[in-house]
Amino acid sequence: MVLPILTYPNDFLRNPTEPVAFPLSKEMQKLTKDMIDTVRKADGIGLAAPQVGKSVKLIIVNLEKSDVPLMALYNPKIIEKSFSKSEIEEGCLSIPGVFGMVKRPKKVTVQAQNAQGKVIKFEDNGWIARVAQHEIDHINGRLIIDVIKKYTQGEEIVKQWKKEKTL
Ligand SMILES: [Zn+2]
Repeated sequence: MVLPILTYPNDFLRNPTEPVAFPLSKEMQKLTKDMIDTVRKADGIGLAAPQVGKSVKLIIVNLEKSDVPLMALYNPKIIEKSFSKSEIEEGCLSIPGVFGMVKRPKKVTVQAQNAQGKVIKFEDNGWIARVAQHEIDHINGRLIIDVIKKYTQGEEIVKQWKKEKTL
């Protein structure tokens, strides 16, 4: 089932998230399946649970179009990151129309649990690393508008939001 995606400035996107418990509840299994349907339908490369209104530590990395098997990662975190950074243009399904350059560590080691609760670790220095960092930011309430250094599209929208917040 495709879920509606919350968009900024919905404050829910800033909420703290709860860890996922194992074995997975029926509800979590359903959420996983629905988030996979949702990210595919939206043609997104990643999705985090807060974006569909659930405050839990679950992210989907969808690089199927680059021949990477889809990943559902529970309780993911970055446990190691490189000193060297790369700057890439990012957008976000929750912030339509806004794009900008985001600098992040180039190489990271991600630790997470799979659907069986098994702890997995992997290292990446390409798109998986980039998407994982963006989605892990989501489960920590952090959005690209907090980290974009230079906007490539939609800067006036963000300026307006920032202005409204200070009024
Ligand atoms: Zn996003």
